[in-house]
Amino acid sequence: NGKRNNKNSIQFYSQSMRDSSHQLIQLEHELRLAIKNNEFELFLQPIVDLAKNNITKAEALIRWNHPKKGMISPDKFIPVAEKSDLIIALGEWVIQRACQMVKKLAKLGYNIKISMNLSSAQVTDNNLFSYLHACVKNYKIDPCLLEVEVTEGVLVDDYSVANKLLSKVRTIGMSVSVDDFGTGYSSLSYLKQLPLDFLKIDRSFINDIVTDDNDKAIVKAVIALAHNLNLCVIAEGVETQEQLSFLTDNACNSVQGYLFSRPVQFNAFVELLKKHPHT
Ligand code: C2E
Ligand code: MG
Ligand code: MG
Ligand code: MG
Repeated sequence: NGKRNNKNSIQFYSQSMRDSSHQLIQLEHELRLAIKNNEFELFLQPIVDLAKNNITKAEALIRWNHPKKGMISPDKFIPVAEKSDLIIALGEWVIQRACQMVKKLAKLGYNIKISMNLSSAQVTDNNLFSYLHACVKNYKIDPCLLEVEVTEGVLVDDYSVANKLLSKVRTIGMSVSVDDFGTGYSSLSYLKQLPLDFLKIDRSFINDIVTDDNDKAIVKAVIALAHNLNLCVIAEGVETQEQLSFLTDNACNSVQGYLFSRPVQFNAFVELLKKHPHT
């Protein structure tokens, strides 16, 4: 009867809740071990400057090479790491790996910039800047070859602390990108107040850019806005020649996407540089 069903469904619900919180704890535990066991890999995806027709930069994208489950995408574990202090350790690993890669590329004769994604907790971490600075010194790399990416949400939620951090970061020569632009808060006043260099237009606007007149209008307007504020524009998720043509015709500065390359391991990225023009 109804009563019993009701009882059963409540029981079922609490059981599944227990399972999912158990899974979360399990995943956190595995992540902690994975840091110790060095199971992470930093992939690189080229960013192409359209005026120079060059690879000038690469975005560093983390993957978890799980011994049993194989390669795990960051969407599966970054949100879990962000719920605990794990994101700080993971973020420091990314910074140090990115610096090491900049150094290795420079030794091979490639002055390619690497951009890194920063989570909110990293931006508000008091030690982040000194960690970055120490890594740059340690590897003896030019800070101009490093960039940080932060989302609009972080810039708005943690405005004053983000402002201070990004100013310091730029003082030593690093640059700053706004990631996933257009998907977060639409308060535009922060764009003129914060120390920024690049806007990355989210790929959801690029997807249908060839067929959707609204997306065309939005992307054109974002490029104009960015240029008027002296910012450069990077389009994310460029997959087709037609999308590339639209972006070139509308003075977009750089593009990133599967059309050029998926994110790849360091050695494969070096192979890409050998075959393609680069700075
Ligand atoms: P994101 O920073 O916006 O990175 C761009 C994402 O778009 C990457 O997904 C990339 O593989 C994907 N992408 C690039 N070109 C194309 C394309 O042409 N088509 C399609 N469909 N996708 C494309 P990925 O590597 O899975 O990373 C997802 C998100 O995870 C990133 O989004 C970023 O928010 C986060 N993430 C990745 N690495 C790190 C990290 O080291 N630290 C932090 N805090 N977050 C990271
Ligand atoms: Mg990014
Ligand atoms: Mg993005
Ligand atoms: Mg994203």
